[in-house]
Amino acid sequence: MRRRLIAGNWKMNGVRDSLTELDPIVAECETFTSEVLICPPATLLPLMANRLSGSGVMVGAQDCHPNPAGTHTGDLSAPMLADAGASHVILGHSERRTQHGETDSLVNAKASATARAGLVPIICVGETRGEREAGIALDIVAGQVRNSVPAEPDPEALIVAYEPVWAIGTGLVPSLSDIAEMHAHIRSLLRKEIGESGGHRIRILYGGSVNAGNAHEILSVANVDGGLVGGASLKARDFLPIIRQSEAG
Ligand code: PEP
Repeated sequence: MRRRLIAGNWKMNGVRDSLTELDPIVAECETFTSEVLICPPATLLPLMANRLSGSGVMVGAQDCHPNPAGTHTGDLSAPMLADAGASHVILGHSERRTQHGETDSLVNAKASATARAGLVPIICVGETRGEREAGIALDIVAGQVRNSVPAEPDPEALIVAYEPVWAIGTGLVPSLSDIAEMHAHIRSLLRKEIGESGGHRIRILYGGSVNAGNAHEILSVANVDGGLVGGASLKARDFLPIIRQSEAG
């Protein structure tokens, strides 16, 4: 019922030459039943959208400003990202929360702006290592979900990504039972906040050191509707096997 999504987050990596990494993915994408999304740095958005045009592989952005236009030097608005060819926007990534001081309410405003521009927000939540060790991971993530997800969203056009901060780029991955517990927790919160049917339809991705070796088991966990992949999305030789694992069941 919820179609899997495998999303790549290139972060601040990639120049025009990097677009050749798309070619093997495009060559194979006709066989994919999962949705595939790649979020390059904004400098590559139109070029990537052009290169992927007609392939079914989608292009996303990594952040946006909550306002549609104005005096915000260096920022990009959701309508601009739509104009550049994006269909999704990653919001509230832990690197933005820690390096740019982004709060839940700012993420909420950005998510509303993204939806108004006709794009799908991917709202990232996740606890730090200290919060997990203190036994408050479920509470921290619950607060982030309650405060970052806009009221009355279109459930088909909003995605939540659970990304434990301590698992991002570290090679560390929570146990499958911890992933299952957190995804069930987020699902039940969404049902409570948005309603039974809407909360059931919102996709919840797992992110944090996903690779070809662990993707299959992580994607098999209940309520894991896909993956948000950082480092392993940069090269087709790493990203394609993850997509294939998603196709494998
Ligand atoms: C990310 O930054 O969203 C991420 C999941 O990174 P990595 O896959 O490298 O842990």
